[in-house]
Amino acid sequence: MKKMSIVVPCYNEEAALPVYYGEMFRVMEEMSGISFELIFVDDGSSDKTLKILKEMHESDGRCKYLSFSRNFGKEAALYAGLKSAGGDYVATMDVDLQDPPGLLPEMYRILEEESYDSVATKRSDRAGEPKIRSFLSESFYKVINRISKTEIVSGARDYRLMRRNMVDAVLKMSEYNRFSKGIFEWVGFRTKWLEFRNVGRCAGETKWSVGKLFSYSIEGITGFSVAPLSLASVIGVMFCLFSFVMIFVIILRTLVWGDPVSGWPSLVCIIFMVSGIQLFCTGIVGEYLSKTYLETKRRPIFILKDSSERDKGETYGEQKEV
Ligand code: UDP
Ligand code: MG
Repeated sequence: MKKMSIVVPCYNEEAALPVYYGEMFRVMEEMSGISFELIFVDDGSSDKTLKILKEMHESDGRCKYLSFSRNFGKEAALYAGLKSAGGDYVATMDVDLQDPPGLLPEMYRILEEESYDSVATKRSDRAGEPKIRSFLSESFYKVINRISKTEIVSGARDYRLMRRNMVDAVLKMSEYNRFSKGIFEWVGFRTKWLEFRNVGRCAGETKWSVGKLFSYSIEGITGFSVAPLSLASVIGVMFCLFSFVMIFVIILRTLVWGDPVSGWPSLVCIIFMVSGIQLFCTGIVGEYLSKTYLETKRRPIFILKDSSERDKGETYGEQKEV
């Protein structure tokens, strides 16, 4: 019998968990030929999430849980879940039913009948999302796909079903600064994309503020492109060329018309602009430096406080030696 693991990150999801389990129960009944394990990762929730997970584990042995010592973020939760997943097929999905579990039978059928290693999903629209958030997301995808060799699909969800070989490859990437949308693409393998209409959360609230999304996008850009690092050199060369032309023009003008003292306000503006650009470029270098700094510390990606798999599970999501 084939085994399927479902990895579900949960952060303060007491309201959504029972609804999710109800929906997933129906799907598991429908796919009766497969043995399931649901791996819920409690990402340091401060509500009753862990209590509910324990109750679910008691009443249904297929429900397992890992609980972090604090909030490590969704990326760390996904990594921990994938690490402890033992299935031939592994799916990752959100608990708020924005990733419809009803798609699983179709995703499984594709992997069984067609020669794909993974079935990924993306939203066909952004209905119900604030306009400003949609605009920022679209801009992010445009920028990153211009400067990164790894294609990051616009509207892609972290909802996908993978074969074991792909999961093992993803686990090989034990970096501290994680950006799953990039990691899934970077490892390669044949992926089929399914589209579905955007649906709202079944319960609870989104955990992503605009600020959090912004740092997530910086994570994506610094993780999968080094193009911003060459920005300083490009701008520097442009400014040098511009200044050579200006020097020539000014010398010529002085020789022809004399040298009246004027133009200091424009000079101040230029100084402000150039120093602004310099600081901006230094900031970019700093961004990469800070990521490298955190990476070299080799801190664990997550720390477990509690788990239904106490003997088997790893307590620390330690990074592999390089
Ligand atoms: N999540 C998490 N840790 C966090 C934030 C979110 O594990 O720090 C989980 C959350 O419980 C949910 C999924 O990640 O299952 C997606 O979060 P959310 O629905 O808030 O994001 P959105 O769908 O609004 O992008
Ligand atoms: Mg959601």
